[in-house]
Amino acid sequence: MHEWKSDLVLDAKCRLGEGPAWFGGHLWWVDILQKQVHTYDPAKVAHTVRDHNQAVTVVVPRASGGLAYATENGFFVSDSENGELVPVADPEFDRPQNRFNDGKCDSAGRLWAGTMPTNGEKETGAFYSLSPDKTVTKHFGGVSCSNGLAWSGDNRTLYYIDTPTRRVDKLDYDAQTGAITNRREAFAIPDGLGYPDGMTIDADGFLWVAMWGGGAVYCFAPDTGAIVGKVSVGAKNVTSCTWGGSDLSDLYITTARDNTSDEELRDLPHAGGIFVARVNGKRGAYEARAFGG
Ligand code: CA
Repeated sequence: MHEWKSDLVLDAKCRLGEGPAWFGGHLWWVDILQKQVHTYDPAKVAHTVRDHNQAVTVVVPRASGGLAYATENGFFVSDSENGELVPVADPEFDRPQNRFNDGKCDSAGRLWAGTMPTNGEKETGAFYSLSPDKTVTKHFGGVSCSNGLAWSGDNRTLYYIDTPTRRVDKLDYDAQTGAITNRREAFAIPDGLGYPDGMTIDADGFLWVAMWGGGAVYCFAPDTGAIVGKVSVGAKNVTSCTWGGSDLSDLYITTARDNTSDEELRDLPHAGGIFVARVNGKRGAYEARAFGG
């Protein structure tokens, strides 16, 4: 197993930094609990924060310009980067105890995101996609904490994490129709590593899984679950990761400051920050994909 260290990029002190996405030469992410969207431009060493009146959990580019979002109140779009959020669909308007969580777009411009109960219930969330024509499809329910997702390089498999299961699952994926079928376990997370949270895939097909409570991102071989590598992070609660930089070889990592004790914070003063690692020529295959609608 390879082991790498990550470096602090930005001491953002996010309570719940999440959802990193690289597009337009910037890293984008959200702080769900502070209802913020952040950007960081490494070329200019410039950080921006935009406050919202609701918890934003996903931010992705929009093919027509502007951005698309998942929030605690459903799917939204804006016409420009600082434009107002316009509601598109709220598939769980009847479940106010739920909110959206992690999500990203597929190669056909659909925005995929799942939900989670915030009141300690189990298996009352679901996994959805929003098509460019703005129709919503519910793919499955029974979700407790919908989290990381990634498509294989051949675009025929979707990897998916519902955190409390401590598994990475896989489904057959049809890019043309947007159907996902045959959900089964790809591999289980070994004991002691923490809880699987956000995830990305590299150009060689390996999965990079952020570990809540685990202080690291682990790289897994998707067919066997073998641990190929570990990136240590200066935070206990590591939430997600994505490839960025001009050649997509910088692994950007988001973290949370909440759920870290004062004693732990003495050793991990930058918890809630953004970290980056370069990992032996590994790189991503593409920038964050855009919502097509
Ligand atoms: Ca997450």
